[in-house]
Amino acid sequence: MLLPEGAVQFQISDPNKEIPVTTSNLNQIPFEDEVLVLGGGAAGCAAAIALARKGRRVALIEREPTPRHKVCGEFLSGEALEDLYLLGIDVTSLGAVPIDYVRLAAARRAAQAPLPFSAASLTRKALDTALIAQAIAVGVRVERGRSVPRSASGSGPS
Ligand SMILES: Cc1cc2nc3c(=O)[nH]c(=O)nc-3n(C[C@H](O)[C@H](O)[C@H](O)COP(=O)(O)OP(=O)(O)OC[C@H]3O[C@@H](n4cnc5c(N)ncnc54)[C@H](O)[C@@H]3O)c2cc1C
Repeated sequence: MLLPEGAVQFQISDPNKEIPVTTSNLNQIPFEDEVLVLGGGAAGCAAAIALARKGRRVALIEREPTPRHKVCGEFLSGEALEDLYLLGIDVTSLGAVPIDYVRLAAARRAAQAPLPFSAASLTRKALDTALIAQAIAVGVRVERGRSVPRSASGSGPS
């Protein structure tokens, strides 16, 4: 399908129901929500939670039908822990493991030092599950298993 420049092709599970989304036909998006967040990872969930807390009606579209493990270091820095706390995520109750020191190893030599801040480790699957659950808890309408493919013009989200 040929789309105008800047158009995003909105696809729901049935590929025959792809909906080209342009600024001129945004009202035709089959959502009544004020804000549409694409992607239910850390950034998308944080944005959706913050907006919903401010009273905006938010829908979040996540491509994966269920949370899954990702290639990730799973290290939560002090800043990340603070941000998650402010989002309402208690990583300790999710089973996060505290990290107190950093260790560098090469061949047979190793050195370690205490971390100058609190840190923790949590699987991305557990973290993403909790973030989506918190988004739902604050009123975000979450749609899983849907995606927005790259537009024919190449300028839309992938
Ligand atoms: C190997 C590796 C190790 C890392 N280790 C760490 C670490 O230890 N600590 C740390 O803090 N950070 C780490 N990071 C960085 C961290 O993973 C990213 O900063 C973080 O995931 C970015 O969040 P995000 O929400 O932008 O993207 P993502 O977490 O990638 O989330 C994007 C979401 O959007 C969905 N999506 C994508 N396309 C579409 C679409 N078209 N329609 C609908 N949904 C869509 C995806 O399914 C996904 O759920 C690591 C990254 C890598 C690659």
